[in-house]
Amino acid sequence: MPEPLKVGLAGLGTVGVSVVRLLEQGRAKLLARSGRAIEIVAVSARSRSKKRDVDLKKFRWFADPVALASDPSIDVFVELMGGAGDPAKRAVETALASGKPVVTANKALLARHGQKLAALAERNKVALNFEASVGGGIPIIKTLREGLNGDAFTRIYGILNGTCNYILSRMEQDRLAFDEILRDAQRLGYAEADPSFDVEGYDTAQKLSILASLAFGTKLDPNAIYVEGISSITLADLDAADELGYRVKLLGVAVKTEGGIEQRVHPTMVPKESAIAQVMGVTNAVTVDANGLAPITLVGPGAGGMATASAVVSDLADIASGVRTPPFGRPAARMTAMRKAPMQHHEGGYYIRLLARDRPGSAATIARRLAQQNISLESIVQRHEVGQGVQPGRSGKPVPVIMITYATSEDAVHKALAAVRRDRVISGRPQVIRIEKN
Ligand code: NAP
Repeated sequence: MPEPLKVGLAGLGTVGVSVVRLLEQGRAKLLARSGRAIEIVAVSARSRSKKRDVDLKKFRWFADPVALASDPSIDVFVELMGGAGDPAKRAVETALASGKPVVTANKALLARHGQKLAALAERNKVALNFEASVGGGIPIIKTLREGLNGDAFTRIYGILNGTCNYILSRMEQDRLAFDEILRDAQRLGYAEADPSFDVEGYDTAQKLSILASLAFGTKLDPNAIYVEGISSITLADLDAADELGYRVKLLGVAVKTEGGIEQRVHPTMVPKESAIAQVMGVTNAVTVDANGLAPITLVGPGAGGMATASAVVSDLADIASGVRTPPFGRPAARMTAMRKAPMQHHEGGYYIRLLARDRPGSAATIARRLAQQNISLESIVQRHEVGQGVQPGRSGKPVPVIMITYATSEDAVHKALAAVRRDRVISGRPQVIRIEKN
């Protein structure tokens, strides 16, 4: 029987403590699978005295996670502290440089430094595994890295942030505004006290940059992503989406286009019958389109201690079995520079909701501005609040107008709406939501 794989674990929060538990519970099964026991021997966190509901007495304690990363008593380093900077960055670099494989769930670190870390792992001939960094318990990294032929991917998109999907699902089901559901989500622990990282789309963007790199073999570039969050979504948008046969989801989308790779995060209308539209609450889902294959959708728990820990343990089991694949599916030197497709060139259908001033000629002006940009409408709904004795075009109140366009460009939509605003035929800012067809 080979020696057990000795693990040094830095970070004993939600995920770290669950890893301790899962390794304890799954000991026999893991041994049967990889032919080698996996044992934690040393741990590190900020506070040694914090109560953590797991027995840590049998592990050596390191006040400094970087010292743990290169300690000769461990065979593999697990980083579950989080953050793109130190100590996570230095600890992972130290472990790799001293020839120790690393398992991490840290999307922020990978999105920012993934390329360099992959090269360092390769130089030292050790694994860098990060299944838990995207989609929690969904095995999407392995699917992209090993399960499918990377050259054939055309598009990858998904619900990558449980908080946003929870908020949008509850707005729709409970008919409450964004702010009310957000407050409730914070009370229930589904949203952070400062929710902006999640609701403004940045968390999704970090995860998308990892998926795009794996799918298209490109260098990671989180700054190449267009990002828009969900805080402007109203019940009126969700109702209109429902009437028109859509649901609104915050999606991360990476697509191969003739102009390069388009990476974007934004609220998106998806057809109600699509697999991704069925995903409600904190659940995550990722759909992969590849040439010659029908779309594949993976759905599952995107966060939570045990779900995420299961991905960490699966990465450890690979290391125990001696499996080592290039971190991003190909040698780091062969990851190509990302040719970014500019967002203005994005082509697709659009939902546009605006408040037209209720006076003769407004509708004609709006139609003319759209036509000037060659935008054709698939549908248009104008909602008059017709009260007793009030004639359309005479109430003085703005009238909601909802339009769905045929495929057009981002640039054309922006130019048309800028002209409509200059014409002063609408009140406030128009709402624009992109449509993603399946
Ligand atoms: P967490 O609950 O905040 O725990 C972080 C842990 O790291 C704590 O034990 C903390 O120590 C320790 N730590 C932080 N800074 C440290 C430092 N300077 N030196 C030593 N230890 C330090 O975080 P988490 O939710 O478990 O997340 C861990 C990682 O998993 C992150 O990269 C996160 O993005 C990723 N992830 C989390 C989830 C999830 O559902 N939570 C899902 C997917 C991925 P103290 O306990 O002493 O403060």
